[in-house]
Amino acid sequence: MTTLAAIKKKEAAVLVPLYDRYPLKIARGAGVYVYDERGRKYLDFLSGIGVNALGYGHPAVRRTIAQQSARGLVHVSNLFYTDYQAELAGRLEKLSGLDRAFFCNSGTEAWEAALKFARAYAQSRATNGHKPKWRVLAMQDAFHGRTFGSVACTWNEKYRKPFAPLLPGVEFVRFNDVRDLREKLDDTVCAVGIEAVQGEGGIRPATREFMQAARKLTKQRGALLICDEIQAGIGRTGKMFAYQHFGVLPDIVTVAKPLAAGLPLGAVLTSNAVSRALHYGMHGTTFGGGPLACAVALTVLDVLEKDKLLARNRQLGDYFRARLESLRKKHSAVREVRVLGLMAGVELDSPDLAKAVVKKMLERGIILNRTHETAIRMLPPYLIGKQHIERVVTTFDSILTEEAKHQKQPATKRSTTR
Ligand code: PLP
Repeated sequence: MTTLAAIKKKEAAVLVPLYDRYPLKIARGAGVYVYDERGRKYLDFLSGIGVNALGYGHPAVRRTIAQQSARGLVHVSNLFYTDYQAELAGRLEKLSGLDRAFFCNSGTEAWEAALKFARAYAQSRATNGHKPKWRVLAMQDAFHGRTFGSVACTWNEKYRKPFAPLLPGVEFVRFNDVRDLREKLDDTVCAVGIEAVQGEGGIRPATREFMQAARKLTKQRGALLICDEIQAGIGRTGKMFAYQHFGVLPDIVTVAKPLAAGLPLGAVLTSNAVSRALHYGMHGTTFGGGPLACAVALTVLDVLEKDKLLARNRQLGDYFRARLESLRKKHSAVREVRVLGLMAGVELDSPDLAKAVVKKMLERGIILNRTHETAIRMLPPYLIGKQHIERVVTTFDSILTEEAKHQKQPATKRSTTR
């Protein structure tokens, strides 16, 4: 097997240099753990950035993959009917409260399609002689993906600037600021896009007031409400969709990450009203909604239901919050703890401390990451137990204690991690 050093050297020579990888080569996975090439075990509290919600090698997922590939149908183009798209759409509709689905391959593709659907809906409703609404309001600190439409709706300059000019007509609203939304939501806006819990933005939940105002104002002004559930959806927050915590029903919802347990699958869920603006050939995909990915997604939904994982995620989330709050009370470097189900963020007082925590956690066999500079993000698999939370919190605690000691030492004695 190729060693970490060898693969690192090889990648540096042949890959476009876009990823600053952790110093870890993952060789296999089992349950909530991954193993490096020397057999060292890591507790994965990031689960492939929210994708591996059922962990690694889940027996039901393995069974479905084996059965479906044995049928010889990994891919069938969208020129033909296959077994699973309609069934999966029906299940997602029941769970979301929406009426129709379009399947694609990734989060950004789902967001692109949602933007196109919103534009098509606005065009279909434009009265003769009037210019259709076409502008989009997105949120500050939002992340919707890397393709042109998605990156145009993404707040962070570092993702946007090198590729300008982006899709025109996107304006940003201060997240959770009802007044700012009201002022910017004029008659030219066709859609407002919101993550009910911002993921890359540092695990920041919307307020109930903001979500309800967004629903009310979009209805009043004839704009669509699009919720990006790519990171927070499919049970992670303890509800099937994060918007369901806030008592609203959007017009369009995007999902991806955990939907097919690691196989690439995204979906756009829409109301019938939006769907009526779309016709054969207006949009499409070669790979999207393939029979293997859709069969696995049905298995994911079965497991969530059978093992009552939503309720479990809620309970574990409450426990996780309480344990992380104890860190906040003990360590002044912990500014804030934000937890909804198994979506957890710990805001630290500096980017360097957040970097040191990620590095030291990895050295101690725990995977998590840093987002929005100062937030430690945890998106564990839904299969964790309290014992895993305990391990993460006690390790976090000892690292924060060590780092606080380092800070008190004279500069010459400090380690280089901070
Ligand atoms: N939207 C949200 C909320 C996300 O978290 C992500 C990815 O992190 C995306 C969209 C983009 O998804 P993908 O990387 O599958 O294109």
